[in-house]
Parts: sequence; C-alpha cells; structure tokens
Amino acid sequence: MPTDGYGAQSRQFQPHPDPASAGFLAQFGASDESSEGFSPTPRGYQPGRTKYVVVIGTVMSGLGKGIFSSSLAKLLKDKGLTVAPIKMEGYLNIDSGTLNPYRHGEVFVLEDGLETDMDLGTYERVLNQNLGRLNFVTAGQIYTEILERERRGGYLGRDVQMIPHVTGAVKMRLRQLAMTGNAGKPCDVVFVEVGGTAGDYENGFYIEALRELAFEEGSENCCFVALTYILEPSILGEQKSKAAQLGIKRLMEAGVQPQLIACRAKNPVTEKVMQKIAMFSNVPLPRIFSMHDRASIYTIPDAMRDGGLDREILSLLKLHERVNAKQEDRERVTWSAFTKRLNAPRAHKVRIGVLGKYASLRDAYASIDKAIEHCGTALGAEIEIDWLDTSDVATLAEAKQIVSKFDGVIVPGGFGMRGVEGKVRCVEAARVDRVPFLGICLGFQVAVIEYARDVLGWTDAHSTEFDPATTHPVISELADQKKIEGIMGGTMRLGGQDVQIERGTLAHLVFGGRDVVRERFRHRYEVDPKHVAALTAAGMIFSGRHTKHPIMQVLELPISVHPYFIGAQFHPELTSRPLEPQPMFMGLIAAAIARREPDFAQTELGKRWVRTAAGTNAAVTA
Ligand code: GLN
Repeated sequence: MPTDGYGAQSRQFQPHPDPASAGFLAQFGASDESSEGFSPTPRGYQPGRTKYVVVIGTVMSGLGKGIFSSSLAKLLKDKGLTVAPIKMEGYLNIDSGTLNPYRHGEVFVLEDGLETDMDLGTYERVLNQNLGRLNFVTAGQIYTEILERERRGGYLGRDVQMIPHVTGAVKMRLRQLAMTGNAGKPCDVVFVEVGGTAGDYENGFYIEALRELAFEEGSENCCFVALTYILEPSILGEQKSKAAQLGIKRLMEAGVQPQLIACRAKNPVTEKVMQKIAMFSNVPLPRIFSMHDRASIYTIPDAMRDGGLDREILSLLKLHERVNAKQEDRERVTWSAFTKRLNAPRAHKVRIGVLGKYASLRDAYASIDKAIEHCGTALGAEIEIDWLDTSDVATLAEAKQIVSKFDGVIVPGGFGMRGVEGKVRCVEAARVDRVPFLGICLGFQVAVIEYARDVLGWTDAHSTEFDPATTHPVISELADQKKIEGIMGGTMRLGGQDVQIERGTLAHLVFGGRDVVRERFRHRYEVDPKHVAALTAAGMIFSGRHTKHPIMQVLELPISVHPYFIGAQFHPELTSRPLEPQPMFMGLIAAAIARREPDFAQTELGKRWVRTAAGTNAAVTA
C-alpha cells in the first residue's frame, strides 16, 4: 500500500488491464465512464518497483538535458541499478528519419532500426547500453496510436480528449518501458527527458502526463529535475538568476515541483545565485547542482558524485538498499582511469578532415565527432578535426591540395547529389596519395564509384541515386535483393545487422580477429553484385559481407597499394563508446599517427592497430 500520504486516492490507480487486450475497453464501462481517474497500466505493473526521474528544461533548450540525464543515470547504473532512458519529443514526426540534419543534428539509428534524435546517441555512449524503440517517443507516435484506436471504435462512444486519453497514452508508454527496460524485465529507474522547455506549446501534454504520473506513483517513486540556465551578461560581469527563477516558476505553474535543480552556466554557479534559486523554488541547496561548461561531458558523472547528487536521488527515491557497493567501486575505478586518460597530455597530434556537406554544423555528424574523440583518448592523440564541404572541389589537383593537409580523411554518409563529385575527387586523392581513409555509407559507395571510374576505366560509373542512366550502375537500389531480406519497397535497410569479416584482411585485423561483427545500417542503395567480380579483379577487396546475401559491407585496399583505405556500408560511428572505441576509427587514427611518426608502429598500441606488410612496419609510411 502506498505510504506517501496519498492514501486511498492513489489506490484507485492501481493495476489496470492491458490496452492491447479487450480489457482496455472495459475501462470505459459504466464504472470508468463516471470516473475521471483513467490511467492505463500494463498488466502486471507493480507501482513502486520502478522509479522515475524526469528532467525538464527551463529558460531555453539545447542546454544538455540529455547529458545531465545520462550522467545521472550512469551514476545509478554504476551502483548496480538497471536504468532505462526515454526521450519524449514534442514534434509530430513519427521518428527522426525525415528530419534535416542541418536543422536537427544527426539521425541516430538504433539497433532495432528506429531513426531517432542525436540525444539517444549520448545515452548509448554514456550508459554503454543499446536502446530501442521504447526509449524514444514523439507526439506523432502518441497521436497516431490514439487516432487509429479511435477509428477502430476503441473508445466506445466517448469523446477522445487530451486528458485523460493523450496523457494516459503517455503514462502507458512510460510504464511499458518500466516493465521491460531491463532487457525485457522491469528496470529500477526510468529517466525521462522531455524535449523543449517548460512553457512550450508542444510538450505541455507530456508535462501534464508526468505530473499525473508522479501523483499516481507516489512521491517516493518519482522525482523531477529542472535544468535551467544562469545568465552571465558581460556588461554586468556577474551571474544573474532571474531568468532561471522565471523558468522554474513556469514549471511550477504546470503543477510540477522540482526536487532537484541543475544550473547550466559558463562558470561555476556562485553560492549567492544558488541560495536565491533555492529560496524561490523550494529546493534545498544540496540539491542544486552547478553544471558549468567543462572540457568534456565525461567528467560530469564524477562532478555529480562529488556534489552528492547521487545520494540525494537515492534518498528521494528510497533506493539505498538496491545499491551494489562492490560494483560501484569497480565501475568507479574503470571510469576514473578513463577520465584520467582523457585529461592526460597527449603524446601524438594528428589532423583529420571530414569531407561532407554540412561543414558548418558539427551536430550533423555528432557521432563521428565522438568516435574520433574516443580514439584520441585511447591512443593518446590530440586530434584536430576540420569539417569541409566538398561541393566546390572541381579538380583532382584541388582535391589533392585539400587532402594533403590531413593525416587522415573521412568521407561520411549522406543523401542527395550535392558534393558527391567533389567527394569522388577527394577519395581519389586519398587513394593515390596514400592518405589514410575511412568511407562511411555514402563514403563507401563513393569509394566504389571512384575505383570503377579510375581503375576500371568506367568513366560514367555512378550510383543510380545520382545518375539513373549510367551504363555502369556500380551502386544501385536492388529491389529483388530487398524482397529476399523482407524489406518493403522503397524503404531503407535500417538497424543492426551481422557482418561477416574475411580472415587475413585489414578489417579482420582492426576488428581484433572477430569473424562476425554487428553494426548499424541506414541506406537504400548498395554495391550491385553484378560488378563485384570486376572490382575485385581490379584489386578492391570486399572484406565484409552480409552473412547470407551478396551484399558488400566493408571494402579495403591491400597494403601493397595503401596503408589504410577502408570503407563501410554501415555507420561505424554509431557503435563507438568511450571505453570501447569503434575499431575502424581506431585503425584510421592509428594509421594517421603512423603517417606522422613512423616509430609509432613499434609501440604497444601501434602493434595492435597499425597494419604492416609481412611483419615489417616499413610499408606503412613507405
Ligand atoms: N544515399 C545513400 C543510400 O541511400 C547513402 C546513405 C547514407 O550515407 N546513410 O544508400
């Protein structure tokens, strides 16, 4: 029975039937018709089993709710608790697949194929945990579900309302995640991140649903965090808390009392400002956290622990007895070794060029940025990244000039014709000038096109995405192939797939001798198997393939012609984690270091990551 003082009231919300079954309809019978306490709950749901931490932004968005939420979730995960994050988006799109990366940041693809917001990447990296479709919800998903049920007659004559039906569907999603968020089993804590800020039109129904959830679950099962922003206008030279106060007030007007406040700021938040915020928001000082700018987000979990935030959450949610102290000690040692490496002086320095089409916005390639950062830490290299737009690269000479500035280049994924010809030239420059190269998805396809044109002499070779009339469609959309795989016409191959790696290849070396690896895909076009024999005869090696079908997934060139030339039809950046950098990126950065410092190949790290010909390292830089 609830001990939170809600007494009988909260009991009326206890287990409800599964909405997927006829039981859902029963809730609209006579008794529920007269009751306003409609709150669908999955069958077998136990209130109190799973706790909820809800993070809501105030003042402005883009402050790092996801970073805060994932760091706090990591602290609890390290203590042996099972955690499941969920991002709630206010937009009406069903997923992020159709969003322009220039406006919204990269599309992050989950293992189960859902195309999501880039914040899910932050959660996966910080928590070192794969997520799935239950971890991401949009207003579009919620409304679609409701409107479809309405058409099926699922509401038995009732008018369908924002409250309780839309808010009910939101609570249902959260409780479903609570029951399954630990690999199909109930998890200890669900971390809810609401997109946008309090006061936005489009996320109001989420905040209302969460207010209801907190009421129904009880005060010791649900905790709200307000993430706010402390202004520091240069004309005043001091921190001002008014905007934060007003933002938090906005949240309180919606009936939500935060228990914890995180203050984003340029500099550490002063005691005076914290006192003011405490006083205006009913939140005691120990629960106000200064989340000022830091060199790396990976130091935030430690800062939170130093500030005692983890203990506050455990007390608020009565979670102390679920803590596994031994596991926490182990995880702390591992993480602090990592943050120590992160902050240590770097022995090497390299320049990497990312040759894409969104040169001005790092968010469009957020995971690539992170994957490179992970490798820099692991290999002790300071990595300068240049993001270049290839649209204006008109000649091979120009491409060579650009590529020669770097110790390694990446051609990332993309859609649409703009910049493709420039990329072809840059890949040619990297190939002939032996600059370490990693092609990703479209970058992989461009490498095939370039090779077919220059080495096979098929001067009009292309992808049918860009030139449907080409006489050499080396990359094309293979409808029959997709049919065999069960992919609907016109749609993309999305999500995790096994990749068979051929022994004795560069791919096999970087993947540490694994014969099968799992990576994430997002593409519509692929190498036409008809042309594989010709490409292979001309020297291109397809070292990674689909386990059953003739789909080329990794390409490379032999060491006799290039130290590190590799491409992936998948997106290796999506699986890179701070403690486990993705191997193809590791290989690239190691090759880039070896290009600058021939001796690197002899070091312990060099021996693991740098490919050498016949046991000698000479060929790497020859
Ligand atoms: N446009 C290409 C395709 O659809 C590549 C996609 C990508 O790079 N993600 O196959």
